[in-house]
Amino acid sequence: MQIGKCQCGAVEIQAPENMNKIGACYCATCRKINGGGPLLGLHGNSELKASGQEHIERYASSDWAERGFCKKCGTTLFYHLTVGSRDYIYSAGLFENADFEITSEIFVDAKPDYMGFLSENSVKKTTQQVFDEVNKNDA
Ligand SMILES: [Zn+2]
Ligand SMILES: [Zn+2]
Repeated sequence: MQIGKCQCGAVEIQAPENMNKIGACYCATCRKINGGGPLLGLHGNSELKASGQEHIERYASSDWAERGFCKKCGTTLFYHLTVGSRDYIYSAGLFENADFEITSEIFVDAKPDYMGFLSENSVKKTTQQVFDEVNKNDA
């Protein structure tokens, strides 16, 4: 189990120990919510284990997902799929662990030109490739 905390400490998230792969998302919503940078997300599972849940606000950012943030300090906590797998994707910034690896970067066509990629070795997908994959999985 690894523990992630928001900036003020009101919310503590208990995430699986083996969770170490980061997916970066450059979509306009992630960049708007996360101070201009991509969301760096660690893929968890469909169960949220957290203390201080009364401090978590959820915001439906699309028809298929919601964002969780701390009501006290505003820290981005997670991206949560509200359809399909219903998985939680946690903000990498919550965790002290430096042993993470960026394995995918998505919505790369939405990345502004003033920003570089984060990893040479990550799998990179455009908006079209991401949606093609979602539709394939739904079929
Ligand atoms: Zn907080
Ligand atoms: Zn995004």
